[in-house]
Amino acid sequence: MTRFEGSLDLAGIGAGPFNLSLAALLDGIPTCNAAFFDNKEQFSWHPGLMLPGARMQTSCLKDLVTPVSPTSPWSFLNFLVSKGRFYDFMSLESFVISRQEFTEYMSWVAAGLQNLQFNSGIREVSFENGSFILRTNDQSYTANNLCLGTGKVPHLPECTLPFTGENCFHASSLNNQKPSLTGKRVAVIGGGQTGAEVFMNSLNGLWGAPSEVVWVSRRSNFEPLDESPFTNQFFTPAYVEAFHSIESSRKRTITDRQKLASDGITPSYLNLMYEELYYRSYVEEASMPPWNLLPDRTLCGMNKSGNGYQLEISNNFQQGSEHIEADCVILCTGFEYKLPEYLEPLLPSIDLSEGNLQLGSNFQVQWDSPANRNIYAVNAGLHSHGIAEPQLSLNAWRAAKIINNLLDYEHFALGHGRRLIEWEKQNKPSLSQNAA
Ligand SMILES: Cc1cc2nc3c(=O)[nH]c(=O)nc-3n(C[C@H](O)[C@H](O)[C@H](O)COP(=O)(O)OP(=O)(O)OC[C@H]3O[C@@H](n4cnc5c(N)ncnc54)[C@H](O)[C@@H]3O)c2cc1C
Repeated sequence: MTRFEGSLDLAGIGAGPFNLSLAALLDGIPTCNAAFFDNKEQFSWHPGLMLPGARMQTSCLKDLVTPVSPTSPWSFLNFLVSKGRFYDFMSLESFVISRQEFTEYMSWVAAGLQNLQFNSGIREVSFENGSFILRTNDQSYTANNLCLGTGKVPHLPECTLPFTGENCFHASSLNNQKPSLTGKRVAVIGGGQTGAEVFMNSLNGLWGAPSEVVWVSRRSNFEPLDESPFTNQFFTPAYVEAFHSIESSRKRTITDRQKLASDGITPSYLNLMYEELYYRSYVEEASMPPWNLLPDRTLCGMNKSGNGYQLEISNNFQQGSEHIEADCVILCTGFEYKLPEYLEPLLPSIDLSEGNLQLGSNFQVQWDSPANRNIYAVNAGLHSHGIAEPQLSLNAWRAAKIINNLLDYEHFALGHGRRLIEWEKQNKPSLSQNAA
């Protein structure tokens, strides 16, 4: 017996942070009959990467609801008050919280919502007689609209594919894998935040005492996330709307050059790391396995070597190749968007020009739809909406845009006032002429 009888106005597939924001905002709109299905037993957020000391890269005020509905009961501030920790939290004097606490907040929201159903992996979605039919292994559900929110999948470099297993794995499975690094030569591949956290935790013996740890990064150095205020303007609704409107052929060049705005190591973590490496190397006598930082290098090949592996590395700084011997290779090589398998029956009706879902400004997928039957997609639009799309920064705004479009009226007021930066073409007289 299913909790969700009849035809849903919206079925969300996946209940990660992106669809959870939709679910939390829809909770205050009883006229919209929505349900969200997730294959996990309960809410969790990248549990494989929940490493000690991991901090959020976005402010806790950019939670599931606050930017568009600050009076919602599902705000981070209400979570703090409900847990009786508001005053103690305030004395932290920081909006940068741990990923563990943000997960606790999101789990609290998920536990309080009635429109989520876990243990419900969607196997297939079809469109029959004017409705979407979602099938799990043992149930089916009918909906008028969909929101695809099943996230991204781990990206593995091609050369590592034949070797994946106990001693060569993507970092996203670290906590499930529970590797034993004791006595092993460890290679951490990938120079982003995850690479940094895995490198430091390996050195600190979280998974046993390795015999050595090397950290390989394709980036020219171990580079900081750019958190400066003008760069943060890329994570505003005004910028995303302007970005969506430019020619698609220009977009890739722009997102490539903005990489460090979303994909570097937080400056505070870099400072901590540097201090620790310095003091442990020169001042304290604490034991630490030998380590090596190898930026400006690309992993380009991998072979079996004895009980371990030989990694072929291309040195982009001096132009040449190097070899590294490792017993365990941890791939901190990011995530990529793949079309979900459950969409297969709908693919012939979906516009996949340029190999991607084509997304409208309200995150609607372009497909041969009858009127009032929309497929929305979240975390699937780096190519259309820009670098903010895979991030939490605009989570609530994105969800509110979708809800306004779904309801066909402006339930959430999303207009913005004066902009600090004008991104769009200016065809008006200068400000001084305006004033005159
Ligand atoms: C370690 C890590 C830390 C991050 N930290 C930050 C940060 O601090 N700030 C920031 O802005 N961004 C951060 N990000 C980026 C981004 O916010 C996250 O990746 C976020 O989890 C994306 O949310 P999502 O809902 O799109 O996807 P996911 O979190 O991947 O959730 C997708 C959900 O869909 C479910 N699912 C998959 N297939 C099916 C199916 N067939 N049927 C039903 N359910 C299914 C999954 O079980 C999962 O629960 C981080 C990313 C990572 C990997």
